[in-house]
Amino acid sequence: MAESAPLPPGSTIGIFGGGQLGRMMAMSAMQLGYRCIGYAPAGDNVAADACADFFENHWADREALSAFAAKCDVVTWEFENVPVSAVERIPAARLACAPRALEVAQDRLAEKRFVEDLGGRAAPHLRVESDEDFAGALDRIGTPGILKTARDGYDGKGQWRVQGGSEAQGVRFPGRTCIYEGFVDFEAEFSVILVRAADGEIRFWDSTANTHEGGMLVQSVLPAPAIVEEQVEAARELAGKVADALAYVGVLTLEFFATKNGPVFNEMAPRVHNSGHWTIEGAATSQFENHVRAICGLPLGETATRFASIDMRNIVGEQALAAHEILAEEGEPHLHLYGKCEAREGRKMGHVTRVGARLP
Ligand code: AMP
Repeated sequence: MAESAPLPPGSTIGIFGGGQLGRMMAMSAMQLGYRCIGYAPAGDNVAADACADFFENHWADREALSAFAAKCDVVTWEFENVPVSAVERIPAARLACAPRALEVAQDRLAEKRFVEDLGGRAAPHLRVESDEDFAGALDRIGTPGILKTARDGYDGKGQWRVQGGSEAQGVRFPGRTCIYEGFVDFEAEFSVILVRAADGEIRFWDSTANTHEGGMLVQSVLPAPAIVEEQVEAARELAGKVADALAYVGVLTLEFFATKNGPVFNEMAPRVHNSGHWTIEGAATSQFENHVRAICGLPLGETATRFASIDMRNIVGEQALAAHEILAEEGEPHLHLYGKCEAREGRKMGHVTRVGARLP
C-alpha cells in the first residue's frame, strides 16, 4: 500500500490464511473498528470465527479470488505459504505490500541468499536436488547437519537431522529440492520482530529467547540471556535492512541463533509470529494490533515491554484437554485457545502467557 490516508473504521481487511494468527489478527482488527474477511482452502479455519465472512476456496480459484478482492479495502496474509499467484490476483493498490516478501520467504535458499546479500550470516548450506548432491553436501559441509525441503516446511516438518559421523544414517534425499545445512552450535535462539509502516518507520519488540523441540517453538521468555541481549542490536540492523529492501508493510520476523561468534540468521517469516504472542499482554501494543495499524495506515503503537519477566508457552496436542486448569493458577496466567476441533499430536492448540511484576 502506498502512503495514504488511514483506512476509516468500518473498512474491510482481507486475510489470506485461516489459522490462529489470522484469528488473533482479526480480533485486534475488530477492536479498532475494522471487519475482516478470510480466504483459505477448506480445513479447520479457526480464523473464520473472528471474521465477518470467510471464503473457503482453493488458492487457484480465480473467481473466488476476484470476489474476495472486491470486498476488501486492504489485503494481508497470516501464512507465508500462500501461493504468490493467489496474491497477484489482488489489485496492487489493495495489497498491504507486494508479494516479494512471500516469494523470498517461501524458499529457504532464496531467503538465505537475500539475507546474505544484505550482510547477514547464515549456516553453511548447499542446494540438494539429487542423491549425488546430498552425498556431496555431506562431504563438503560435514555432520551434524539438517536436510530441509526448500519449500513448504513448518514446525519441524520436512526436516531430517543427520547426526555425527560421515554417513547419512538413513536420511535420504526426499525427491524434491532441499537445502542441507550444517548444524549451528548455538547458545540460544531468538527472534527479532518488527513492524514497519508504509512511510518506512520501524519499531522493534524486545527479543525473547525461544526454545524449540523437534523443530517447533515451545517457549519464549524475557528477559533473554545476556548472549541474546548482546546480539540483538546487530540482528535488528539486519532485520531493518530486510524490511526496507522488501518495502515491507506490517509485522516481519527474523529468527536467529545466538552463537559465540555473533548472530546467525536462520529464517524469516513475513508475518506475525508465534514468538510474538507474548506481546498481547506483555507489550504496550501487540504484534497483531501493530500489524493492523501498519496495513491500515494508522500511527504505530509503542512496543515497550510492560513486565519484568514474560513466559509464553505453547499448548500442543492433547495438552489442550487440560488447558483450562491453568486458569486456577496464582498470578496472571493468560490463556488463549484457538478453537481447533482436533487435538492432534504436535498441533498448536493455544498458548499461555505468564507475566512477572509490572514495570513502572
Ligand atoms: P526452522 O524450521 O529452519 O526454523 O528450524 C526449526 C528449528 O530447528 C530451529 O529453530 C532450530 O531449533 C533447529 N534448527 C534448524 N536449523 C538448524 C541448524 N542449521 N542448526 C541448528 N539447529 C537448527
